[in-house]
Amino acid sequence: MMGPAHSLSGAVAWLAVGAVAAERGTPMPPLVLAVGAVICAGAALAPDLDHKAATISRSFGPISRLACWFTHDLAEIVYKATRTRRDSHREGGHRTLTHTWFWAAATGAAAYGLSFLGKWAVLAIFFVHLVLAIEGLLWRWARRGHDVITWLLSAAVSWIVYEQLSNHPGQADWLFPHPYAWLGLPIALGVLVHILGDALTESGAPLFWPIPIDGKRWYPFGTPKVLRFRAGDKVEHLLVTPLLVVVGVLCGFGSFLLPIHSLSQLSFH
Ligand SMILES: [Zn+2]
Repeated sequence: MMGPAHSLSGAVAWLAVGAVAAERGTPMPPLVLAVGAVICAGAALAPDLDHKAATISRSFGPISRLACWFTHDLAEIVYKATRTRRDSHREGGHRTLTHTWFWAAATGAAAYGLSFLGKWAVLAIFFVHLVLAIEGLLWRWARRGHDVITWLLSAAVSWIVYEQLSNHPGQADWLFPHPYAWLGLPIALGVLVHILGDALTESGAPLFWPIPIDGKRWYPFGTPKVLRFRAGDKVEHLLVTPLLVVVGVLCGFGSFLLPIHSLSQLSFH
């Protein structure tokens, strides 16, 4: 799957969480729904930090290029250190460590932990994921070399959103008693959605590492080969993307309409 489809599926997944949360009686405030969707869209791009030519490597100039080199090499080291005799020989770390449930849990936990550090840590999470979401969702615009505008815009929006969320009770502290602790959810979800997206494409992803399956710690989890479509091909553009948009719109409406519906039911009793 290519970057734009990954980001779109991240945003849709968060809107689906919004619909479920509404249905279960803990509706997300609209701003949490919107911000979470953007953060999840950004996080859904992040696992390709292990690929030196991925969209993400260009997002923050030399800093992201350095981060890509580091993650790629780290992933390769972990692959080689933990592979069994049945895992294939491979060079490079792409689609290994950052494409596991472990990475999803670790990044979600890291975001949860960072939220306790206060304002600047939260602003940094907003900023990084907003830039990534623009790279993923508005990629045509971002590819035209609008890096500095993207950074400035993301910084300004992060600041405004932070002020809005912090000044209204029930927003920053939605679901958790500590403000912004919920940021771990869209980030872990984004990684999982990315992994599932890759599992639908040609080569699968080692979701369950390090749990051995069929003697392989890096077992490539995915749909049966005949059902897989190639990253960036017609199925992705003509079927998957429009389908995601429709599901996203339905979930978005669901997140708003379900609480209204349950409120109107309450008023009858
Ligand atoms: Zn990937």
